[in-house]
Amino acid sequence: MSRFFSSVFSALTPYVPGEQPKNGGFIKLNTNESPFPPSKRAVEAGEKALGRLNLYSDPSCSALKKAASELYGVPEECIICSNGSDEVLSWAFAAFCEEGRPGIFPDVTYGFYPVFAAENRVPFIEVPLLPDLSMDIKTMAEKEGTLFIANPNAPTGIAIAPDEIEAIVRERPDRIVVVDEAYVDFGAVSVVPLIEKYGNLLVTQTFSKSRSMAGARLGFGFASPALINDLETVRCSINPYNVGSVAQAMGIGALEDNDYMLDNCREICENRAYTVSALKALGFELTDSKANFVFARHPDVGGEELYLKLREKGILVRHFSKPERIKDYNRITVGSIDEMKALVKAAAEIV
Ligand code: PMP
Repeated sequence: MSRFFSSVFSALTPYVPGEQPKNGGFIKLNTNESPFPPSKRAVEAGEKALGRLNLYSDPSCSALKKAASELYGVPEECIICSNGSDEVLSWAFAAFCEEGRPGIFPDVTYGFYPVFAAENRVPFIEVPLLPDLSMDIKTMAEKEGTLFIANPNAPTGIAIAPDEIEAIVRERPDRIVVVDEAYVDFGAVSVVPLIEKYGNLLVTQTFSKSRSMAGARLGFGFASPALINDLETVRCSINPYNVGSVAQAMGIGALEDNDYMLDNCREICENRAYTVSALKALGFELTDSKANFVFARHPDVGGEELYLKLREKGILVRHFSKPERIKDYNRITVGSIDEMKALVKAAAEIV
């Protein structure tokens, strides 16, 4: 660190993304990517956009918003496009948290939330998960501040019902609830339809998981026009060209090919069911995941030990050493059936 570095950033611990090995050779089940390529329609649209890269991208992502508006059935003024959903989540901390209005989220959730809070210089409160690793929504809702709810939660994969979210959104119209739906397409129910009814709800989604476009960096925020305006102010104060033209074109192609995404999600859910029952048969304990990953521990093998032994066998999974309570778990992305069979075989040899 240089002596010139700002005190804000020198004090924070940045988010550490899952390993992306350079030389291949691993079965990668550590960053919840899709095992399927992007939709052909998305790729064709992206290729066409390459020849126009001399021009700036459309700063308002109008065509992409139009396509999303048609598919999701929400007005275009209720949509904002971002460079991955990480970006819109960071704007939400900047726009809707401040001194006296902390970000509120579980102690075990997406590890980027505390970093978003720190980088935006806003306070946050972590509410412990309940003993069964589900979210303590009641305690979260009792606190003053802006709620951040990943649904399904990561890394547990546990989902909450839309009525539960609606109840807390309805109960306190003066408090913003952000619902991070990065994994919603794998078995949870989206609350996007509620944004027209409640002015205090922001929902984020991503193209990185179900739409197989993690490398394109594309995400959405859905909310009332007033909230979207606030986020637009933050966006245009940082980078009005935040989404490149290739990503915009690919996004439109992907939305137009929605059945491809739905088919892929069905296959991931089948592979998840296979993985859960095969790991249970080996003695693993798993949460009830509705995401494209499972969260598993074994009574006889520590979490880190399993992670390292799988790594030796060429399989990468994600291990979190903190908080203490989840250190014996590993988060395992659900990939293709062959990848899952390889995982189960390796796990069987280890345990
Ligand atoms: N939310 C959650 C819960 C995630 O796990 C991730 C992926 N790491 C994101 C948001 C952000 O994903 P992206 O920026 O690729 O849209």
